[in-house]
Amino acid sequence: MAAIGSGTLMAVAPGKGIIVHRYADGRVLGYVALNKPEEWMRSIDFGDPSAGLRQLADEFADWSQLLTAFVTQSVAEPWLRPIYALPVGLTWDRVPGATLVGDAAHLMSPFAGEGANLAMYDGADLAGMLVEQPDTELALTAYEAQLFPRSSDAAGRSAKNLKNFFGREAPQSVVTLFDHS
Ligand SMILES: Cc1cc2nc3c(=O)[nH]c(=O)nc-3n(C[C@H](O)[C@H](O)[C@H](O)COP(=O)(O)OP(=O)(O)OC[C@H]3O[C@@H](n4cnc5c(N)ncnc54)[C@H](O)[C@@H]3O)c2cc1C
Repeated sequence: MAAIGSGTLMAVAPGKGIIVHRYADGRVLGYVALNKPEEWMRSIDFGDPSAGLRQLADEFADWSQLLTAFVTQSVAEPWLRPIYALPVGLTWDRVPGATLVGDAAHLMSPFAGEGANLAMYDGADLAGMLVEQPDTELALTAYEAQLFPRSSDAAGRSAKNLKNFFGREAPQSVVTLFDHS
């Protein structure tokens, strides 16, 4: 288990984890992470939230109840968040008059913590280029020339971190990650 800072607790193992954050208003919200087929996730009936949460907690049956209590005693409405990712380094041929920003351009797992930052950066960058360059095609070409390496770098880190968090070496790989950051 790795406890990071005063407000975040991360407990991870190969293919699973419980990650919670304490917010400034005192609430604790978090994630149960499971490397399972999406159909399995969607088969859980959250119509009865406590039964659904118990089913999730059963996946951590050999974990401390101090950790599974974050799941079984949750009062927040559970949300299913399947994690999708586009291939790292994805590019496309120029399409006249069109481009992409944000997740549409570079969807990645949340483990670089960069998706929203990149989406805002993309929007600001694109707007700046369109203002500076009256030729729209030149502006879009210049935007994509910066977009591709920027998003590829973050997507690569995200894919690597996903493996660090839930790969075979977890949790030691997470400890090493934070030791070196
Ligand atoms: C669990 C989790 C944790 C995350 N943590 C972080 C983090 O710590 N830091 C970080 O930077 N990022 C994080 N992210 C990633 C971040 O949430 C996304 O990268 C970001 O929201 C992408 O913004 P976006 O505007 O590109 O897409 P979105 O936020 O998906 O916005 C797209 C919008 O378009 C709407 N839409 C879709 N189709 C249509 C349509 N046909 N017509 C009209 N509207 C439509 C959708 O409803 C949505 O509102 C996390 C993501 C997840 C899932």
